[in-house]
Amino acid sequence: MPSVVPEAPAPAPHDNGPGSAPGRVLSTLNEDGTRRWVRPELARGRFYYRRLAVAWFLIASFVGLPFLHVNNKPVFLLDVLHRRFTFFGATFLPTDTVLLMLLMLTIFLTIFLLTALFGRVWCGWGCPQTVYMEYVFRPIERLFDGNRNKQLALDDKGGFQPKRLLKFAVFGILSILVANVFLAWFIGVDELGHWMSQSPVEHPAGFSIVFITSVLMFIDFAWFREQMCVVVCPYARIQAALLDKDSLIVAYDNNRGEPRGKLTKVKLDDLKIGDCIDCKACVYTCPTNIDIREGLQMECISCTQCIDACDTVMDKIKKPRGLIRYTSQAKLATGVGKVLRLRVILYPIAIAIVAGALGYLASHRVAAEVTILRGIAAPFTEGEGGVVTNQVRLKIHNRGDDARSYKLELRPLDGLKWIAPENPLRVPADHAVTTTIFVESQPGAIQGEKSIEIHVDDGKGFTADVPFRLLGPGAKQ
Ligand code: SF4
Ligand code: SF4
Repeated sequence: MPSVVPEAPAPAPHDNGPGSAPGRVLSTLNEDGTRRWVRPELARGRFYYRRLAVAWFLIASFVGLPFLHVNNKPVFLLDVLHRRFTFFGATFLPTDTVLLMLLMLTIFLTIFLLTALFGRVWCGWGCPQTVYMEYVFRPIERLFDGNRNKQLALDDKGGFQPKRLLKFAVFGILSILVANVFLAWFIGVDELGHWMSQSPVEHPAGFSIVFITSVLMFIDFAWFREQMCVVVCPYARIQAALLDKDSLIVAYDNNRGEPRGKLTKVKLDDLKIGDCIDCKACVYTCPTNIDIREGLQMECISCTQCIDACDTVMDKIKKPRGLIRYTSQAKLATGVGKVLRLRVILYPIAIAIVAGALGYLASHRVAAEVTILRGIAAPFTEGEGGVVTNQVRLKIHNRGDDARSYKLELRPLDGLKWIAPENPLRVPADHAVTTTIFVESQPGAIQGEKSIEIHVDDGKGFTADVPFRLLGPGAKQ
């Protein structure tokens, strides 16, 4: 078995050396502020293959979910154009403020719980940025540009390398596809198909949105890359507050690894050497360019690549795997970790309460929303012979899954004459329709104002009595 001799720890990838500014510089920047390109070496291992399976399942879900429908409605649709959000066939409107608030609260509390338990498992295993970058774009890059060393050699030549042109062309096509998948979540596959089937001249707005999104995708995956996680993503910043000492993290076992030392041909069995042979395989494979041996860092997205890289090294030097592993800060320090902690108990209780309230309110939502408004311009008009006419605008939002016909009735009639051009009012499923009603009263029938109700009945169990004040001469406005 090879032996090792200790040596001073090698400079970390973001140690800028003598004369550089003291303190830590971003792992993806050079000391002069220029971009430090990260060219990670792929580490194949047990976690890589598990993540590969999860990644392709997720890619299939990202692409397939916008096509899935329940009760003729999409399973998920964040329809920002029409301000409607559909989850599992239930549509929420901006007026569903309480429901939307409860939904967001449930999502946030679930993220808090998952982070407290499993750390940044979302970043490493589920985030579309990681999934597309590591399992679509980077494999293509390796196909065209070769492994890390070949990519670095190309970088060293400086300037744009024509050899990379074909790769960027493929990135461009993929970016257009990813952009279309992304947009399908927000506008729906039908609308997207409509945009795609029309000429850019006929549909400039739709074309511009698809074009801009595709360009942004290209910039992200071809150029911006890990900066999205390191610089932009707010989740990286709030994780410090969400993690505790017992949260699952990817960490290097300092006690086992240090003092680190390079392999030599000399056998020095009496030296007390740690298991880390300072091969830097864990650093070269890191997609955010950090050295996990420096401890928990904000840039770490828990992608497990360093675990696989180090396990391969441990296998080669016949040491137990797990020098870098999933563990917790508490377990590393004391050997004992806790699963049940106060926050891990409180979060599920809070989630149960909030999700329960959400489920109850969602299942008790009214089948339709009726809004009544006064007519535009004058509140009332006086015609020939002193006949007073009030114009009333009635809006019905049908939240049901089928079209409904709403019968309208004015109560009490009391000698009033009313004209409702659309009665019954037909409203398609999940749409809102506004109609105008004219109420005429004989001279002197309304002194100031008169209270009435408009009774709405869909004949299928939904009824509503909406109050309204008719105005006449002498009304206080
Ligand atoms: S891969 Fe393992 S042995 Fe190599 S430098 Fe990293 S921690 Fe040390
Ligand atoms: S330190 Fe390890 S787990 Fe964290 S981002 Fe780098 S390779 Fe992934």
